Amino acid sequence: MMTNDRIFAARDPNGVRPLCLGKRDEAFFVVSETCALDLIRAEEIRSIKPGELLEISKDGIKSYYFGEKQERHACIFEFIYFARPDSRIFDENVDKVRRKLGKTLALESPADADIVISVPDSSNTAAVGYSRRTDLKFELGLIRNHYVGRTFIHPQQGMRDFSVRVKFNTVKGVLQDRRVVVVEDSIVRGTTLKQLVSLIRQAGASEVHIRVSSPPIISPCYYGMDFPSKDELIASNMSVEEIRKYLDCASLEYLSLEGLLKSVPKEQGGFCTACFSGEYPIPIENNIGKFQHELEE
Ligand code: SF4
Repeated sequence: MMTNDRIFAARDPNGVRPLCLGKRDEAFFVVSETCALDLIRAEEIRSIKPGELLEISKDGIKSYYFGEKQERHACIFEFIYFARPDSRIFDENVDKVRRKLGKTLALESPADADIVISVPDSSNTAAVGYSRRTDLKFELGLIRNHYVGRTFIHPQQGMRDFSVRVKFNTVKGVLQDRRVVVVEDSIVRGTTLKQLVSLIRQAGASEVHIRVSSPPIISPCYYGMDFPSKDELIASNMSVEEIRKYLDCASLEYLSLEGLLKSVPKEQGGFCTACFSGEYPIPIENNIGKFQHELEE
């Protein structure tokens, strides 16, 4: 917010979303992810604390805290999927945490296979971590078209199906006659992954093993992410074995919630894991629009 020659920036009291302060020459910048600072060649100064209000003017920066101090509940999904791996959020490198997710997943759920591939781009780093820990070679078996957006936010199923075909293609020379581990960061509806499994098999893979670097998503997000409702979340309605059959893959394993929590840095405070546990750490107000009916069940 800007008033006259002053700019105010504030982070939510529970620190659900990341916010960072940067500087270049005499100019200050407030960004969600530090990759935005790299773009303009500004340097990261520090994270803005939960409940902190900054007043930025030509005289410098003043820091205030609003409301009572509250427990931190940083969104753990930022590390899994939302944030870019070339960013620092919550005072940690996303790349480092995402690799660790892949390594923990490999320890929990190895696979008898020949190669590891990722669902690009958001799963690349976790797949590298999985590959390092298992000694299975990491290969580029799926190529992503960068000219279409994320598929789970398309409102209609028909459009989502079409955009998956436009978005990904297989590298047949990599996949032919191979037992393939596909590392995916998360499964929301499962429709994208089902089509990808089919594409990978059409490319000649002899087996497809899915490994997911997050636990099953069973509940919607009420803290700012445009997740589908509970009815549309596949893991809310099916067991892991039912999802495996739906995807038509040889095996399907998710990272455990314990493994997830073991892989993130906790020095700065706790994390929200509500979409995996159904336990919401911050009370949900009545004014929640389209999700109201789910709370009333
Ligand atoms: S519910 Fe999930 S996506 Fe929403 S803030 Fe919590 S961890 Fe993040």
